Amino acid sequence: MKSYDVIVVGGSAAGLTAAQTVRRHYPNKRILVVRKEERVLIPCGIPYIFGSLENPRENLVPDIAYEKMNLGLHIDQVMDIDRENRVVKTEKEEFGYEKLILGTGSYPAMPPIPGHDKEGVYAVIKDVQYLTDMQEKLKPVKNVVVIGGGFIGIEISDEINKSGVENVSVIEIEKHCLYQSYDEEFCVEMEQQLQSRGVNIYTGSKVISIDGGEHVESVKLSTGKTIAADIVILGIGAVANADLAKKIGLRIGLTGGIVVDRAMRTSDPNIFACGDCAEKVSFFGGNSSALRLASIATLEARVAGANVFGIKRETPGTIGVWGTAVGDLALGTAGLTEKMAKAHGYNVVSAVNESVNRHPGKLAGAAKIKIKLVFEINSGVLLGGQIRGDASVGEITNAVSACVQNRMTAEQIAMFQSGTHPLITASPIAYGIVNAAEAAISKMIKVKEQL
Ligand SMILES: Cc1cc2nc3c(=O)[nH]c(=O)nc-3n(C[C@H](O)[C@H](O)[C@H](O)COP(=O)(O)OP(=O)(O)OC[C@H]3O[C@@H](n4cnc5c(N)ncnc54)[C@H](O)[C@@H]3O)c2cc1C
Repeated sequence: MKSYDVIVVGGSAAGLTAAQTVRRHYPNKRILVVRKEERVLIPCGIPYIFGSLENPRENLVPDIAYEKMNLGLHIDQVMDIDRENRVVKTEKEEFGYEKLILGTGSYPAMPPIPGHDKEGVYAVIKDVQYLTDMQEKLKPVKNVVVIGGGFIGIEISDEINKSGVENVSVIEIEKHCLYQSYDEEFCVEMEQQLQSRGVNIYTGSKVISIDGGEHVESVKLSTGKTIAADIVILGIGAVANADLAKKIGLRIGLTGGIVVDRAMRTSDPNIFACGDCAEKVSFFGGNSSALRLASIATLEARVAGANVFGIKRETPGTIGVWGTAVGDLALGTAGLTEKMAKAHGYNVVSAVNESVNRHPGKLAGAAKIKIKLVFEINSGVLLGGQIRGDASVGEITNAVSACVQNRMTAEQIAMFQSGTHPLITASPIAYGIVNAAEAAISKMIKVKEQL
């Protein structure tokens, strides 16, 4: 039996990043990644195979890192783990390990809607063959219904709409699409954007049944409406794949993930877990967090990989940083929205700045950027920010995340030293993050004067 210093189970965002991190921290260790699939999909790129890309094969994680970083790769399913003797058992072989990292990911959540098992109903499964079949089935159809108006739902709807399908409808149970990710004003803008591109939106509507014969024909909503459907796509979130961990008796947490400490150690000191399969705690208060994102998976993998032979890093908890884009409209969030901050029990003040990301604004490529920052009133600490604009929103959101992670106050952000250039940033006079912080400071002064 071959033995390795570190075996990583899973070869997607968490698994590959964990293996690379082990290599960076321990150059001489023998590392093996075991993953089920021949080729790994870029999970966040999946929506784009339905419109912008030709097929799932254009959306693959390159395997070049295995050769470049001297990582062993074994394509096979891990069926069991003998913790006492430290042996990983795959379908075909057995391997000894000193330390093990689980990055077994997640499955799409399957709602218990009657009819969800009919032909023509798809979940978004991260599998090349499944998605190739799904793409083929979508080609000749007229009516597609997407259940769930979160990121996955809206991105997939827009892409299918772009591919020429006549009627694409999104069904969302909440008051608005993206309601759990942005404050209302941002959700409304995204809904208008989707509608202007031809996507039908039904909010405040629950799907009560998926109807038809063997194959789906329609969906029935709680509002009484029936919508014709040749294909139904479920986009309602992800649940941890903790199957192996449960089988070998590791502790499982409230959201169904593998319990880990801040160093990403499971209840077995020789086994670490990271990514969608691991339980998470929030950066804000430390309660369980059900967020499952590639950005979180890779952070956790950098913690787990560095720590396998001695603790070097700890995760501060999940801030929650995400973005989405439909056409020329992009939205980003880092940390808490105003609605979430209030629900957490914070006393908040929020401030909005709208400016242009070029100066002068007449320059080619200029786009209007709106930044909303949310601060805790007493400490002035930034809890979160939301940004609306063009593609530059992605990196502005990441800059806001750095401020949140470092628990910067409005005063510190107002003193932020930024570089500017007409072709690539906003004017230094109208710099969005700084001016939103200044606007929040004015509000906080007024609030304190009234006390
Ligand atoms: C459509 C879609 C769009 C998304 N967009 C974004 C986005 O824009 N931004 C963002 O941050 N997140 C996004 N996400 C979430 C992101 O994809 C996940 O958070 C990320 O994939 C988690 O990575 P992971 O490695 O933990 O798990 P996974 O990607 O689920 O990978 C798990 C790996 O483990 C392997 N595995 C599992 N069990 C075994 C076993 N027994 N033996 C061997 N191998 C095994 C699997 O084969 C796979 O390689 C999106 C998700 C979807 C579905």
